[in-house]
Amino acid sequence: MSDANPFESLQEQVDDAAAYLDVESDVIERLKHPERVLELNLTVELDDGSLARFKGFRSQFNGDRGPYKGGIRYHPNVSRDEVKALSGWMAYKCAIVDIPLGGGKGGIIIDPTEYSEAELERLTRAYATELRPLVGPDRDIPAPDVNTGQREMNWFKDTYETLERTTAPGVITGKAIASGGSEGRVEATGRSTMFAAREAFDYLGQDISDATVAVQGYGNAGSIAARLIEDLGATVVAVSDSSGGVYDPDGIDARAVKSHKNETGSVTGYEGTEELTNEELLTLDVDLLVPAALENAIDADLAEDVEADVIAEAANGPLTPDADDVLTDRDVLVVPDILANAGGVTVSYFEWVQNRQRFSWSEERVNDELETVITSAFDDLVDAYESKGLPNFRTAAYVVAAQRIADAYAESGNWP
Ligand code: NAD
Repeated sequence: MSDANPFESLQEQVDDAAAYLDVESDVIERLKHPERVLELNLTVELDDGSLARFKGFRSQFNGDRGPYKGGIRYHPNVSRDEVKALSGWMAYKCAIVDIPLGGGKGGIIIDPTEYSEAELERLTRAYATELRPLVGPDRDIPAPDVNTGQREMNWFKDTYETLERTTAPGVITGKAIASGGSEGRVEATGRSTMFAAREAFDYLGQDISDATVAVQGYGNAGSIAARLIEDLGATVVAVSDSSGGVYDPDGIDARAVKSHKNETGSVTGYEGTEELTNEELLTLDVDLLVPAALENAIDADLAEDVEADVIAEAANGPLTPDADDVLTDRDVLVVPDILANAGGVTVSYFEWVQNRQRFSWSEERVNDELETVITSAFDDLVDAYESKGLPNFRTAAYVVAAQRIADAYAESGNWP
C-alpha cells in the first residue's frame, strides 16, 4: 500500500486529461481545487459523561452542474486532503455518468468500532447540525461512504428536518426505505462495478462468464460486486478484507463467504480455502481484479506484478498515478473508479429524484435505469478513447467529464 497523497493523485489525473481538452489552462486550474472546505471540531459527550473532540470535514469541490453530492466517511485515516480528493472524484464521477450533480465529500477522523451506537448517534447529529447551513436538497446532498450507512443517513435526515422544521428527505441519500430510501441503493455500487466489468470484457471480445475474479475488500461495494459478477457465470477465486484473504482455485461461493464474514467478522477461515495476504491477492493470476477497499492499494511496484487482464475499480482511488502508468504500459485494461463505482451516486440521484417526486420507483426500474446510465457512460468513454487516441480509459473518463464541467462553467459565466 502506497502513501501517495490522494489529492495530488486527483490533480495529476486532471492534468493528464487537460492535455487533450479544449479548455483554457486557467479553467483547468479551477477544476483541480475544491470551491470550499469546512473543517470542524465536534465535541461529543461519551456514555461515561466525559467529552471527546473529533475533527471532521466537508469539501464542496464543484457545483457547476448541480448541487454538491458525496458521501460521509468515518475512518481513522480521514484527512483534509483525502476528503478534498474524494470530493473531486465525485464531481468527475457525476459528470461522466451525466447526472445533474456536482461533487462533495465529508469525513470524520474516528474508528467507529470504539464507540457505542448512542455515541455515534450524538456525533452524527453534531456533524449534521454543523453542516446545516451548507447542505440541503438544492445545495449539498451527502450519502454513505466507508463505515457509514442507512443508520447514519437516517440520523442526519432527522436532525436536518427537526432543525429546519420541515420534511426534506432529499437532503441526504442512502437512507433506509422506511426513511425515504430507494430500492436498489444498497446494491448499486457493486452493480455498476459488475456492469463496467461486463462491458470491459465485451469491449475486449471476451466473455466474462469464463473469467476468474479476485476481490480486495469485502464490504458493501466488494461483496455485492462479487455476487453479481458470479451471477454472470464468472468464478470468484479470492476475496479479502482488512484481516486477510482467502483463496480457492475452484471457486468461492460469494454469498456464503459474505455470510461467514457476517458471522465471524472476517472472510478469513472460510472453509475449504487457503489463506493469502492482500498483496498475494492483488497479484494473483486472474482475469478480473476488483479493488474494493481503500485508496492506494496498488502502487507502481505492485503494478509490475499484477497478473489480471482487467481491473474494475470499485474503490475510489485504489491505484496511484504511477501504478496507472505501469498498467497502461503493460496493457492492463483499467475501468476507472469514476465509472465503475458510479452506481452508488447514480442510484443516490434516483433516490433524490424520487424524494422530490414524493413517488417510489420499483427495484426493476431502478436497476434498468442504472444499467442504461452505466452502459451509455461506458460508450461515451470508449468514443473519446478511440476518437482522440487517448492513452487509457481513465484519461478518457476525465476528458469526457472535465469537458462537461467546463462547458457548464462556460455557459454560466464567471461571477462576480
Ligand atoms: P465498507 O466499509 O463496507 O467495506 C470496506 C472493506 O474493505 C471492508 O471489508 C474492510 O475490511 C476492507 N478493507 C479495509 N482495508 C483493507 C485492506 N488494506 N485490504 C483489504 N481489505 C481492506 O466500505 P464500502 O462502502 O464497500 O467502500 C469501499 C470502497 O468503495 C471505498 O473506496 C469507497 O469510497 C468506495 N465506494 C463505496 C460506495 C458505496 O456506495 N458504498 C460508492 C462508491 C465508492
